[in-house]
Amino acid sequence: MIAGLALTLTLPAQPAQSAPEPVSPDVLAARAADAAAARGVGLAKGAEDAFVRSSFTSGGGGLYYAAYQRTYRGLEVVGGDAVIVTDGQGRVHDTVTDDTTSVAVDIRPVLTKDAAEAAAAKTLSTVDKVVSRQLVVFAVDSPTLAYEVVLEGSTAEQVPSRPHVFVDATTGAVLDVWDDVRAGTGNGFYNGTVTITTQQSGGTFSTIDPTRSGVRCRQNSNQQVFTGPDDVWGNGSGTSLETACVDALYATQRQWDMLSSWLGRSGINGSGGGFPANVGLTAVNAFWNGSSASFGRSSDGQRQVVPIDVVAHEFGHGIFQFTPGGSGGSNEKGGLNESTGDIFGAVTEAFANNPNDPPDYQVGEEVNLSGSGPIRFMYQPSLRSGHPNCFSSSVPNLEVHAGAGVQNHWFYLLAEGSNPGGGKPSSPTCNSSTVTGIGVQKAAQIFYNGLLRKTTTWTHGRVRLATLQAARALFPNSCTEFNTVRAAWNAVSVPAQTGEPTC
Ligand SMILES: [Zn+2]
Repeated sequence: MIAGLALTLTLPAQPAQSAPEPVSPDVLAARAADAAAARGVGLAKGAEDAFVRSSFTSGGGGLYYAAYQRTYRGLEVVGGDAVIVTDGQGRVHDTVTDDTTSVAVDIRPVLTKDAAEAAAAKTLSTVDKVVSRQLVVFAVDSPTLAYEVVLEGSTAEQVPSRPHVFVDATTGAVLDVWDDVRAGTGNGFYNGTVTITTQQSGGTFSTIDPTRSGVRCRQNSNQQVFTGPDDVWGNGSGTSLETACVDALYATQRQWDMLSSWLGRSGINGSGGGFPANVGLTAVNAFWNGSSASFGRSSDGQRQVVPIDVVAHEFGHGIFQFTPGGSGGSNEKGGLNESTGDIFGAVTEAFANNPNDPPDYQVGEEVNLSGSGPIRFMYQPSLRSGHPNCFSSSVPNLEVHAGAGVQNHWFYLLAEGSNPGGGKPSSPTCNSSTVTGIGVQKAAQIFYNGLLRKTTTWTHGRVRLATLQAARALFPNSCTEFNTVRAAWNAVSVPAQTGEPTC
């Protein structure tokens, strides 16, 4: 309007206004998530409840994943967590919650802490350490006041254990036990002559990675890193623990780089941190204990259990632990956790693309641990007896490594398809369909962004829903990826879920 313009021009100069401070997309995303959590969106929020943000992760497709822990009158509600998915414009895309009802419990315990600890200690053969004892509301089933007692020790089979024991604070009954230790198995294996990142301090070199926080390789016996006067490590021998550290560091560093360049994740814990690898465990096994991974030897003692896929499997448990919803929960979730390790193993092999360990979808294929070859086959889990290819009502109750097969099979179909050719194995579908793969990198991105929607309650059905949502968010201009995710779930008999998106 001309008159308005003239008027504006004749107005006295306004005092200089300071320009609004630019707000970065991550800050907008975090604010939107916090506001949604404060309103209790979809979270059955009662007057005594609060939601405390526990992590904040940038995923792909411009989305951010904020995890929240519910509290009730200041006590942690176990099984009351949620993930709020927002974007850099401050919009809420999705909310993922556990199946929690409203909480109303008396928070005064009948049982003492010492009595709870005594009840918890009975779950172990040997208790080395009491890590913590705190009151919580255990709400995986119906909300109950409980002590969460965290112990370190070993089981009757002499397997290390770090259980979270939930003891009913009224009756003293053990309600559930979640173990941070994830036992795996694998084969000693060598990557040939490789470059590893180590630390130099004066004239001394050590098996510490100064560029990836927390990453180092130690001897299990004394928890010390290897040191030496030069930056040459190992001798290629399967019985040399220094050589095992070469393989372990190589695998860990490739996994770290894969997480960064393919998935946009910073470190194993998502905030730039990694964990030690310990070699020389006197067991035919490897395991993750919640804060480090330990690697044993083959049954004939000739090789250490440090091939790429086993190392990446163990730290894959770390990724599962350090994504929303953590690693505690049902047996079905335990199987999905094992599968997550296998998937990160296969993806890390693909990223490393080392000719001495060609990428494949077998687990621990390089050495014969006990005369029976690979311990798992992702393209056809049933090549191991007792490992089903297809989902059914029995899968949630299977031993967790057997239960890993369904999601492993889904991942292979998504990445490679049912008949990939090129020397890659065919993969039988459970519904006689044909699936064309989208490639390992896209499959990994979709799987990982699904993992960022994890809550304490985690089932095959929830992973189906989460990965469909992830595919739509990551590839908004194409339906191929979304349709393949769905076709692959159908092909392993995981049924459609309520609220499933379409493309
Ligand atoms: Zn495992």
